[in-house]
Amino acid sequence: MDLHALLDRIYRELLPSAGSGKVADYIPALAAVDPRRFGLAYAGVDGAYVGAGDCLEPFSIQSISKIFSLSLVLAREGEAIWARVGREPSGTAFNSLVQLEQERGIPRNPFINAGALVVTDRLHALSGAAREALRDFLRTESGNPGVDFDAGVAASEAEHGHRNAALAHFLAAYGNMECPVEQVLEQYFWQCSLRMSCADLARAGLFLARHGLRADGTRLFSASEAKRVNAVMLTCGTYDAAGEFAYRVGLPSKSGVGGGILAVLPNRGCLCVWSPGLDPKGNSVLGVEVLDRFTTATGWSVF
Ligand code: GLU
Repeated sequence: MDLHALLDRIYRELLPSAGSGKVADYIPALAAVDPRRFGLAYAGVDGAYVGAGDCLEPFSIQSISKIFSLSLVLAREGEAIWARVGREPSGTAFNSLVQLEQERGIPRNPFINAGALVVTDRLHALSGAAREALRDFLRTESGNPGVDFDAGVAASEAEHGHRNAALAHFLAAYGNMECPVEQVLEQYFWQCSLRMSCADLARAGLFLARHGLRADGTRLFSASEAKRVNAVMLTCGTYDAAGEFAYRVGLPSKSGVGGGILAVLPNRGCLCVWSPGLDPKGNSVLGVEVLDRFTTATGWSVF
């Protein structure tokens, strides 16, 4: 498989459509991003690397961070987190309040905002500093010591974060929050503000393609736990469109409202795409299209 030629072809085919979709504007700092930015990067478990377009340009990873916070919590204490958060697709918007009240403070899964707040809460309780634990892990796994937060995005989200604050208070009201709500929200906003490129993210996700083995060959968690994170990504990682996404792409993936999508190809590698324009469900329009074309051309889906 000539991955260089394939990525280059997909990039050139889709470049005229760069700018499709709608850039997220509910976090005002994200609305300032040029909608025509477009990059993609593949990192292989064998050390292969191929990139195209804006693949080295850092962007706001937003909800892609949720894969890594979940993985760090599972690595530290195994399955205990599942008493506080479920593993089913939510069938509602990622920031919905209604379901959380109906289900008495147990979020459907760790990738909707309520579930991610529970995971960040636990990581903060376990590590004493969730956002730093996450940043340091991402620096190590990506091999890029320059991975860092975007203070402007974190502040913008905090200022407009009423929905997340409401979710966190709901969780606390149901006894599903260990640390003070304000602390958890702050950690969460900073976590989402991390800036990474497609190249950084493709490398950072490789422990999921390597069944739990980190970049230095040590084990983060068991092969079984890696399988579980991948399974939750497949069923819950692309907002309320995970069914359609699995149908078109067939890879465990996580998207973020910054326009990134990180996809895991177990045993092979990771592919990350960035294009800020989103579809109505919140997934990058070009990101989904790239992944669809990639799995169609290679046959490398999990099915
Ligand atoms: N920081 C964003 C929020 O909480 C993340 C959303 C996302 O990327 O899905 O609203």
